[in-house]
Amino acid sequence: MKALQFTTDPLAGDKLHEECGIFGIFGHPDAAAHTVLGLHALQHRGQEAAGIVTIDGRHFNSHRGVGHVGPIFGAETVMSKLPGISAIGHVRYSTTGETVLRNVQPIFAELVGGGLAIAHNGNLTNAYALRRDLVGRGCIFQSTMDTEVIIHLIATSTRHGIVERLVDALRQVQGAYSLVALTETALIGVRDPYGVRPLVLGSLKGVPILASETCALDIIGADFVRDVEPGEIIVIDAEGITSHHPFPPNHPRFCVFEYIYFARPDSLVEGRSVYEARKRIGYELAREHPVAADVIVPVPDSGVPAAIGYSRESGIPFEFGIIRNHYVGRTFIEPEDQIRHLGVRLKHNANRVYLEGRRVILVDDSIVRGTTSTKIVSMVREAGAREVHMRIASPPTTHSCFYGVDTPDRDDLLAAHHDVESMRRAIGVDSLAFISLDALYRAMGEPGRDGLGRRFCDACFSGEYPIPLIDHEKGRPNGQLSLLTEHA
Ligand code: SF4
Repeated sequence: MKALQFTTDPLAGDKLHEECGIFGIFGHPDAAAHTVLGLHALQHRGQEAAGIVTIDGRHFNSHRGVGHVGPIFGAETVMSKLPGISAIGHVRYSTTGETVLRNVQPIFAELVGGGLAIAHNGNLTNAYALRRDLVGRGCIFQSTMDTEVIIHLIATSTRHGIVERLVDALRQVQGAYSLVALTETALIGVRDPYGVRPLVLGSLKGVPILASETCALDIIGADFVRDVEPGEIIVIDAEGITSHHPFPPNHPRFCVFEYIYFARPDSLVEGRSVYEARKRIGYELAREHPVAADVIVPVPDSGVPAAIGYSRESGIPFEFGIIRNHYVGRTFIEPEDQIRHLGVRLKHNANRVYLEGRRVILVDDSIVRGTTSTKIVSMVREAGAREVHMRIASPPTTHSCFYGVDTPDRDDLLAAHHDVESMRRAIGVDSLAFISLDALYRAMGEPGRDGLGRRFCDACFSGEYPIPLIDHEKGRPNGQLSLLTEHA
């Protein structure tokens, strides 16, 4: 018998992963506890590590760990070490820098004028170039995170005041970023000028909150106030809330994949309900790619709203023909030579009564490598389905993301090197169709992709990157900066 091996869930590797979720609160006696709850709600945005920094008078307190929010912050002894009335927090799925403690955010630095903690969602596309320059000027980096570049740019800025220095730093960076920062006297929120990643402002009975998604407001009973605007810096201090727009206006390009998969369906992002957007994608998919069938079956959980939309538009009944096991974590222990064969059944099982003898339409959010889709299709066929058709709620994923989403290399994306017919054969379905980019834009209530002003980043479907990929084009992989491998 082979040795047991601790391994990563092989199914998780066939989805794109949002890199991070961020949260901030200013002026509440239970700041750390509310931040833990906010991070719980944002756990889907990053499951590898989490951290919180609080400010108590002039004293910063930090606790960071590798793993899920619950185990990291579950102990009373941990929470008692996080006093203070303001806090920021972060959940992480790593793309730049390996997951070791020194790469867990928020990161903290002692600067001229006081301490500063920062938590970042996104990815800088010129981090390597900036880092090389900063190292040349004598800066000593403690982590491999691109976020640390921002800290050094602030530290070396010759401007006065934290906001001016932050603006000076951000004028030098390229890429996608939503940030929350904590000083001794202020909570600061920033969105990059293209607004690629989300950030919302909320209010808990007058206490200001910043969070990646509105589901983090709901969990603590806070009200949604508004989205932080692309290119906006919000400063929250004892005087109140002030808004700055220091960057030249850009045409916003919010990540359309947030609607397709990343954001939680109960969140409101950029003024739209994620759940409603997914259902509308299902309507458009049904109009664009109808097929005669007996039952619509979502690939749970992310395929559910689009499958409901497809069912409503087509009139074909919706059933949970695949059941997901919610208790399988991201890591598990299995005999290593059995993982490939167990594969999908660890997470999904066929609900035979709705599949046997039926013509089935499977609805999923995306196809990345295609490995999960292949296993699910064979499971549905083994359960007796007469025909299996697959409908995908996104266009073919042909390009990698460089703006804060973990994507495989382009070579590993099934759609990068296969047309729809060869993907159909590879996955083993009777028919396969993807929503078009134009229909996706219509589902978002936009006049079409080339209508009045394109509102979204859709680069992983189109290859048209709105923000220059400076490091990548110079041969640096996605800002990868690792100089030292450290094991926790
Ligand atoms: Fe989102 Fe794709 Fe653009 Fe990345 S490339 S920001 S995943 S739309």
